Amino acid sequence: MWNRLTLTELAQRLAQRETSASEALAACWDRIQQVDPVLHAYLSCDIAEARLQAEAADRALASGATHREQPLLGVPISLKDIIAVREQPLTCGSKLLANFVSPYDAAVTEKLRAAGAVLFGRLNLDEFAMGSSTENSGFGPARNPWDPSRIPGGSSGGSAVAVAADECAAALGSDTGGSVRQPAACCGVVGLKPTYGRVSRYGLVAYASSLDQIGTLTKDVRDAATLLGAIGGHDPRDSTSVPQPVPDYTATLEQGVRGLKLGLPKEYFVGGLDPEVRAAVEAAVAQFQQLGAETIEISLPHTDYAIAAYYIIAPAEASANLARFDGVRYGSRVAGADLLELYQRTRGAGFGPEVKRRIILGTYVLSSGYYDAYYLRAQKVRTLIRQDFLEAFGTVDAILTPTTPSAAFPLGEKSDDPLRMYLEDIYTVSCNLAGICGLSLPCGFTRQPRLPIGLQLLGKPFGEATLLRLAYAYEQATSWHREKPPLPHAPERA
Ligand code: GLN
Repeated sequence: MWNRLTLTELAQRLAQRETSASEALAACWDRIQQVDPVLHAYLSCDIAEARLQAEAADRALASGATHREQPLLGVPISLKDIIAVREQPLTCGSKLLANFVSPYDAAVTEKLRAAGAVLFGRLNLDEFAMGSSTENSGFGPARNPWDPSRIPGGSSGGSAVAVAADECAAALGSDTGGSVRQPAACCGVVGLKPTYGRVSRYGLVAYASSLDQIGTLTKDVRDAATLLGAIGGHDPRDSTSVPQPVPDYTATLEQGVRGLKLGLPKEYFVGGLDPEVRAAVEAAVAQFQQLGAETIEISLPHTDYAIAAYYIIAPAEASANLARFDGVRYGSRVAGADLLELYQRTRGAGFGPEVKRRIILGTYVLSSGYYDAYYLRAQKVRTLIRQDFLEAFGTVDAILTPTTPSAAFPLGEKSDDPLRMYLEDIYTVSCNLAGICGLSLPCGFTRQPRLPIGLQLLGKPFGEATLLRLAYAYEQATSWHREKPPLPHAPERA
């Protein structure tokens, strides 16, 4: 049962000696045996190493260490397999890196260790974080715990599944265009993408460097506040991380929302939005009004161009970032008669079709003669999108939207149609283009089948505290986050 607790609840039970880190880890490990053969959230697990960490945490607890100093002491946390953990696999969901082992820890990994976390699993994802369903994983898709015939979202699908199915206390993912928030919405958990620069990306394998940010997947909002507090902060090894102090996000959670102004962008409530999703989001708006927040309609006039700009800028950056996977420096190698043939064969065999599509697209939009028409123009659109948000934040404290246009779709439904897959990101990519912060939390269920619906809150640069405070107030007034997926042999709720 210890695997079912939130991070905060588990830390409390550990502090009170009601359980031990070793016991909590064992509960997660049992759960993985029970549900992961179907869900496939995990790509690998070093349980022997995790047991050593848990024993060390138990010894620390026995000798008086506290959760005040180490908020994650003894808590089992798993990472998307694109964040480096020393001496653990780092596949990025790619066959090319199937046997690659990281020689070092990412900055967030170091911070989690310093906070006392027990790190044990590598979570499934779309190859190099490119996708919205985990169907682009080189190792087979993860499945939605609410309905295993459906996608869990992506690219941090494994992270969302592991948290929703109680296969760990909390997880980290990465979000370049929605990859933390969209799977959180699909699986009914809380996903937070911090402001660009809030969290160091040292040790996060780069997809699109001007958009990438590491985020949290948790069972509730308080856990998100705790986890962001643990991983945030400046790091000289990532020049895009910002030297701004990390506030205690848990300290302001309970301040309520009275007087806060929430913007509802009219461009986000248009055709293509599933009626059940719309109804759930509108009910959430009413709930916020009841809690004392003011809601006003706003306009983000360049919203229509966000997907097009994103799918030029992200592949352009990816085409440069992925050049390093050449068969010489990293991962597997397919020999060739000369160097060029070695590159071609290695990359031809190692990358999946979506990664190849993006490298080709990205190379094309950067090429001489097309650069101005595509890449440069997309960058200008990006500036307009950022200005839309900054202007809106002149009058509102945060923006409320759906996270996805519909609930989780069946596996295979969009995998042959990249454009339809890209449209899945319609509500999430603008946040990354603008560099602001965003959070998705559960706000209801569709009727038949019963699938989670996500509510998105978008905040000012470094406005995470306000987002968390809004989300916490909503969560306190509702019970969506307490629902558990109907998994085989799920024990009764505590
Ligand atoms: N679905 C988007 C893409 O495929 C976002 C991915 C992400 O945020 N990593 O690029």
